[in-house]
Amino acid sequence: MPDVFADIVGQDDVVDTLRRAAASAAAVLRGAAAGRAAAAAGPVAPDDDDALAAEAEAEAAEGAGGAAQGSGMTHAWILTGPPGSGRSVAARAFAAALQCLRGTGCGECQGCHTTLAGTHADVRLVAPEGLSIGVGEMRALVLRAASTPSGGRWQVVIVSDADRLTEAAGNALLKAVEEPPPRTVFLLCAPSTHPDDVSVTIRSRCRVLPLRQPAPEAVAEVLVRRDGIAPDVARWAAAAAQGHVGRARLLAGDREARARRDAVLAVPRRLTGVGAAFDAASALIEAAEAEAGAAVTESDAAERAALQTALGAGGTGRGAAGAMRGAAGQLKELEKRQKSRATRAQRDALDRALVDLAGFYRDALTAALHAPVAPVHTDTAVLTAAGAQRWGAEGSLRRLEAVLECRAAIESNVKPRIAVEAMMLTLWKG
Ligand SMILES: [Zn+2]
Repeated sequence: MPDVFADIVGQDDVVDTLRRAAASAAAVLRGAAAGRAAAAAGPVAPDDDDALAAEAEAEAAEGAGGAAQGSGMTHAWILTGPPGSGRSVAARAFAAALQCLRGTGCGECQGCHTTLAGTHADVRLVAPEGLSIGVGEMRALVLRAASTPSGGRWQVVIVSDADRLTEAAGNALLKAVEEPPPRTVFLLCAPSTHPDDVSVTIRSRCRVLPLRQPAPEAVAEVLVRRDGIAPDVARWAAAAAQGHVGRARLLAGDREARARRDAVLAVPRRLTGVGAAFDAASALIEAAEAEAGAAVTESDAAERAALQTALGAGGTGRGAAGAMRGAAGQLKELEKRQKSRATRAQRDALDRALVDLAGFYRDALTAALHAPVAPVHTDTAVLTAAGAQRWGAEGSLRRLEAVLECRAAIESNVKPRIAVEAMMLTLWKG
């Protein structure tokens, strides 16, 4: 039976660090139990709070470089890595190891099972509903995280996109990280520790654990082993997904995802003029909207129905008018949240398409340079070779840069349609 760390793909160093930290955390709990027993027997023993504080100090004394290699447990962690590198998978596995009744992350006990299933009472996951995580959500979370763990081990808070905290939410989190309750562990996931992603003050209170983009071979291996996907399909999907484990699994198993990717990779040969470039931009934007729409429509309707039921949908008694006014406010609030979530889903879908497109021009560039590098898209080799011949290395590079600039522009809030149109024109003209 594989343990909770088995699903972390291609990150041996990270897994080593987390295993050691979990063992050290288990030792802290054992020490606390022994301390209580000794205290009951007579003389005063140090309690668990001091034990963890001492661990943290020993870690800090090792210095920034040493701390990453250290074996001890600490209250606050930042897991960094590109999307799909498995940040949140690693955070959840670590949470399971902390709650594991055997203290190892065995994958078999109640603590491991409930954590991985997302139902453990002492593990809370914060994920942004829309574009950002608000202060209200964060305050409520910090408050609950300060309570004594009901399972007697740790309170674990996982913030899956810490780079999407609003400033106020970041401040609420900082307060908790600065003065952590004795049995609370914060696991923050972010693309990097750049100040745009995580504030410098939060960063200074956390141990940073960088994840790498896993190699395609490691991704393919896990698709075969865990998901039972045929080896040749797994190898193709792992390369096409460029190290993104979830994306690789989707490409290997979902016909619609493959069709969307095919449509994106058909863009370069459709760019025959200005009109075609604008058409391609519209098609790309609309495909992203359709994909995102399909993903959120169902949950939107379910949420709305649930809220209407909860509000009683009607009622004529005393106070009904006031209740209805409150209901309208709540519905409006829900619609605002749903709109924000839809926008995020559209941007994510569009970004996936741009990553695929970037892979195409990267392949053309490496073909033009005759670089001994494995291609991203093994199934468009003929097209990228033709592109390489027509554009040369320089023209391929300009096109690759146009795609990357488009991604950056959308990330910094340029209207997607404007950014994509500019990109398509460069892809056409070079
Ligand atoms: Zn376990």
